[in-house]
Amino acid sequence: MLEKQVLFAKLFAYILRLYGDVLRRTVKRKTRSLWRKPSSAAGPEEVRPIVIIGASFAGYHAARTIATSLPPDSPYKVIIIEPNTHFQFTWVLPRFCVVPDHEHKAFIPYGPYLGDAADSVQWIRDRVETIERKCVILTSGEKIPYEFLVIATGSAHGGELPSRVGAERKQDGMKRLQQVQYRIKDAKKVVVIGAGAAGVELAADAKEHYPEKEVVLVHSRHAVMNRFGPELQAAALKALEELGVEVILNDRMAHEDLEQGRVVLTSGRVVECDYLINCTGQKPSSNLFAELSPGSISPSGHIDVKPTMQVNDDSLPNVYACGDVASLHVGNPNSRSATHQATVAGDNVVLAAMGKKPRATYTRHWADGVIKLTLGLSKSITHFGNGQAELLFHAKEKDIALMSEGAWRAMGATPFEDPGLEPLDENGF
Ligand SMILES: Cc1cc2nc3c(=O)[nH]c(=O)nc-3n(C[C@H](O)[C@H](O)[C@H](O)COP(=O)(O)OP(=O)(O)OC[C@H]3O[C@@H](n4cnc5c(N)ncnc54)[C@H](O)[C@@H]3O)c2cc1C
Repeated sequence: MLEKQVLFAKLFAYILRLYGDVLRRTVKRKTRSLWRKPSSAAGPEEVRPIVIIGASFAGYHAARTIATSLPPDSPYKVIIIEPNTHFQFTWVLPRFCVVPDHEHKAFIPYGPYLGDAADSVQWIRDRVETIERKCVILTSGEKIPYEFLVIATGSAHGGELPSRVGAERKQDGMKRLQQVQYRIKDAKKVVVIGAGAAGVELAADAKEHYPEKEVVLVHSRHAVMNRFGPELQAAALKALEELGVEVILNDRMAHEDLEQGRVVLTSGRVVECDYLINCTGQKPSSNLFAELSPGSISPSGHIDVKPTMQVNDDSLPNVYACGDVASLHVGNPNSRSATHQATVAGDNVVLAAMGKKPRATYTRHWADGVIKLTLGLSKSITHFGNGQAELLFHAKEKDIALMSEGAWRAMGATPFEDPGLEPLDENGF
């Protein structure tokens, strides 16, 4: 019991520190913007590029940190390379795979998060295919030189719903979400593979939204949410079972035979199924960097980084990595740790660009591993754990679209206005 109280006190101190840091940065940003001059001060021949690959939680935040911290008249220019037309808000994907009419909320317009610095940042809508020592090469074949590089390619390149959208345009992403909704609606028996957060949330939502359907959740480990503590595991299992989800543990899919409407598990057990959803693990998207610096890739596939977020390759001091792609042994990689790491990477790029030593460091904090897990349409648990003790905060969820509205606001966008959206096609996409 005392352990919980100590953990609670530490959590409170952590939150105070977090708010203090946010306040300090906001004041710094606002005062800078008062004397920021138009970025046109630097002529094209003077531009010194800082390239950021990927604009999700880590890359977008690193871009903002750098662009809003560079001194006025800096010759440096931030260039973001990102294939997606919109920021894809992962948190709501399992929910929007089940519940219709909210798909558009998962795609937040890019730009306003950069605030006053937005005009000085260049966007390139493309994918990086190769990283070289002085430049990156895009799918288009164009070479973009860099003086500093931030790799924020995350995980699950090529991933599919419900973990990643798997489409670059908003309209295509919405269509994909709707296709999953239709498939779940049409199915009588849904099998979900993988009981990490995405699998648990999707299975619980599907069963609560369609109580008449059979929903089976198959997981290869001894417990659902096995990367977290036993209290969260037990609470999640209880909630799933109360909803009527059948949970099969210590088993995995051997093969699917959807024509016969079944899935065969390694134990030999056969589960009837007419729609199968795969929610198994994500892989870090580090392949780009593996060619340039194979020694910097950890056995888990992450890019090894120093606490400064510089890659662990002394021949590449100006290359940084942050977020899900970076290896800092974060138990539960999430957007909080991704943005925290991006702040450190961004601060250090700015210091180095000003000729100073990169001295900001990222230290893993157990509270960075917080998770808010939805358990059906109206319940959630926010969980903190430090390996010895756990804190579980149960809550009632009133908003079917979860935190999308807050996410739009946090990204500087007006919910759910999207003036820059490309014209819809004849089917409304
Ligand atoms: C279903 C689900 C729910 C989640 N819920 C939560 C939650 O509630 N709370 C929480 O804190 N975290 C949550 N997470 C975790 C969170 O989404 C990730 O930790 C976070 O997205 C990591 O951000 P990132 O920027 O490192 O990488 P990613 O989000 O993976 O983004 C990588 C970006 O890089 C781009 N990219 C990749 N390769 C290239 C390339 N070659 N060239 C150019 N661009 C490239 C991609 O297009 C993408 O935009 C959830 C994750 C999932 C899957």
